[in-house]
Amino acid sequence: MIGFTGGLLDRGDAIRHDPAAFAALRRDPAARLLVLDGYEPAMAAGELGWAGIDPALADADLVLLGLRDGIGHFAAITEQPARGRSFELIAALHALAAGEAATYAAARSVLDWHARHRFCANCGQATAPFRAGWGRRCDGCGTEHFPRVDPVVIMIAEHDGRALLGRQPAFPPGRYSALAGFLEPGESIEEAVAREIGEEAGIAVTDVRYVASQPWPFPSSLMIACTAQAADDRITLDRNELEDAIWVPRDTVRAVLAGAEGPFLPPPPYAIAYSLLKAWAG
Ligand SMILES: [Zn+2]
Repeated sequence: MIGFTGGLLDRGDAIRHDPAAFAALRRDPAARLLVLDGYEPAMAAGELGWAGIDPALADADLVLLGLRDGIGHFAAITEQPARGRSFELIAALHALAAGEAATYAAARSVLDWHARHRFCANCGQATAPFRAGWGRRCDGCGTEHFPRVDPVVIMIAEHDGRALLGRQPAFPPGRYSALAGFLEPGESIEEAVAREIGEEAGIAVTDVRYVASQPWPFPSSLMIACTAQAADDRITLDRNELEDAIWVPRDTVRAVLAGAEGPFLPPPPYAIAYSLLKAWAG
């Protein structure tokens, strides 16, 4: 399972277009509210913590995360944007069951979006949630705003049975991973993959192939994992982006992912770079 995928809630799109049904769901005594301390989840035994909806929250802005067995699962909208990932959260993500991590990721991204979009980008007036928390409407000009997702390409270039891995200065010691970068307006996925590998490692690629994707809630990326064929193996590093880049043979990648010592430490299992390396190594 790719990290942050496999959520178990039905997103309940029909409810988003039915304010009366939304109101009834949140009034239901069985309704569940995600327990958060800021953006840190409460967790026990690999599962997220949920509570009933306190009557004090009767008028609070809630997002309908989805339904399970007909029961609404909500999260409370706040005015505080998320800060960076805490060390505790990263450690905890390892312990969260896959479907639970997906629910947390969706909640974190949409709550953070609300906190950052309290005012209209069109006219500057205040906005308010609508569509069961999956949009905001401007009180001034009526413009409707929807949660954004920012696409990022993440990729391995291959040459002669070896994968190109890079190391950013901020990585933990020894860690190497797939190269990555944001798509820009006017680019296809294939073009973004080729541009990023060219910019960061000075290598021309062809035959870009899609492998898999992953929502990444820091704050709201969609990671699009690809492979590509490198024309040659001469690396010219962009030192602003990468500290180092290396070619690693398939057998070595396979051994490192299996836990052996090797020339690099792999990305964490909940990151799609790990799944991409695993798929490439076979
Ligand atoms: Zn407006």
